[in-house]
Amino acid sequence: MSLGEFDLISRFFLRPEGQGPRRAQVGNGDDCAVIAPAAGHHIALSTDTLVEGRHFLSTVDPARLGHKSLAVNLSDLAAAGARPLGFTLALTLPRADATWLEGFSQGLLALADAHDCELIGGDTTAGPLTIGITVLGEVPAGGALLRSGARPGHELWVSGQPGEARLALEAFRGTLRLSADDFQTTRDRMECPTPRVALGLALRGIASAMLDVSDGLFGDLSHILECSGVGARIDHHALPLAPLEAACGDPERAFRACTRGGDDYELLFSAPPVQRDALLALSARLGLPLHRIGQLEAAPGLRVHGPDGRIQTGDARGYDHFGT
Ligand code: ADP
Ligand code: MG
Repeated sequence: MSLGEFDLISRFFLRPEGQGPRRAQVGNGDDCAVIAPAAGHHIALSTDTLVEGRHFLSTVDPARLGHKSLAVNLSDLAAAGARPLGFTLALTLPRADATWLEGFSQGLLALADAHDCELIGGDTTAGPLTIGITVLGEVPAGGALLRSGARPGHELWVSGQPGEARLALEAFRGTLRLSADDFQTTRDRMECPTPRVALGLALRGIASAMLDVSDGLFGDLSHILECSGVGARIDHHALPLAPLEAACGDPERAFRACTRGGDDYELLFSAPPVQRDALLALSARLGLPLHRIGQLEAAPGLRVHGPDGRIQTGDARGYDHFGT
């Protein structure tokens, strides 16, 4: 690398005094970082790796890539109801390209600052472009939101607009034509997802089970169903399909994008019906739609109640698109 490893780290990833959050007892630049959660809290920890060509297109804007690399990790903290504290960055680079690093670190650190999440260390090596991030957050002891807390009778909710990232991917692949406006909106969702951290924190004490949707709504729902030992009924009419249908002009495709498309990083959670009003108030306060899409049932499996009264059954993982 033309830029030495230590120059690279200090130029792009060490923050000058007074810039960026300081959450750790010992931060970046020593052998280990040292971090303490608030009294009565536990550390929540998660790792995600993004590999060029597999998790992102090689043409993506580096600032957006920096944003997304941290966003997908913050999304995991959000899904546990954890408050971000800090993160480490394992960066594997084919070459030290200052322009690329400038954009990448800027996108990464802007999102970190917005969540008061300190870059507390990392590792830098040469190789195929790969970004590994480990985030740390804090949760009240025993209060982490898990996949296993859903009970029959609880209702299923999803935030935002799952499916948009999928439409953008199809447009990039050339299998779907979108208007310029729709392409921009969906592309922003794919390249620059918003981790639902404030929602995750607000759902402490309200949600009974939660996860973030990275692999597709039905596929991820299957994890809640399996971990909680329940089944689910989904109401087709309650899914947020209209904006997707308007964009792609095809109800089948909209349904598939919404229920099977990944990469949206919305939160999927269950809550007892008594929390309905609290959830609607929360949705208004955050300016974020929360859709009540179904209900948990004792019988295992997934049942989709369709617009014409038909009921499609399947297990959530093997569930194919509606109508087959
Ligand atoms: P060591 O050899 O002790 O593991 P390194 O030479 O790998 O230390 O890194 C020196 C310091 O720079 C460490 O504090 C490490 O956490 C930090 N660091 C290395 N790479 C990165 C990176 N990509 N982002 C942030 N911090 C980094
Ligand atoms: Mg090291």
